[in-house]
Amino acid sequence: MKLMIDETRCKGCNLCTLVCPYKIFQEGTTPNRRGVVVPVLDRPERCTNSRLQKLYGRVLCGVCQMICPDQAIRWVEEKPYNPEKVVIEY
Ligand code: SF4
Ligand code: SF4
Repeated sequence: MKLMIDETRCKGCNLCTLVCPYKIFQEGTTPNRRGVVVPVLDRPERCTNSRLQKLYGRVLCGVCQMICPDQAIRWVEEKPYNPEKVVIEY
């Protein structure tokens, strides 16, 4: 599962940056089209929920989602991993 911030809902309050144990949410620096500075995600693949939600069949951690006043945080399905051929030149 992939962690996402819905930019149409986020108001840039940065509450999510305070709660994540992995500090995945970092304060943003650039306003979007609505003038909102949305947090940026630092290596979101580390999120407990992204990694283990499928295995456990329920939301794990989820503190960021609980604290977000605008329901802007969610997880979406990712496409299955497609191995790609890599040519190694010696
Ligand atoms: S679910 Fe937990 S680990 Fe994942 S981004 Fe939110 S606060 Fe961080
Ligand atoms: S808590 Fe929600 S509304 Fe506030 S900055 Fe984070 S994603 Fe945006």
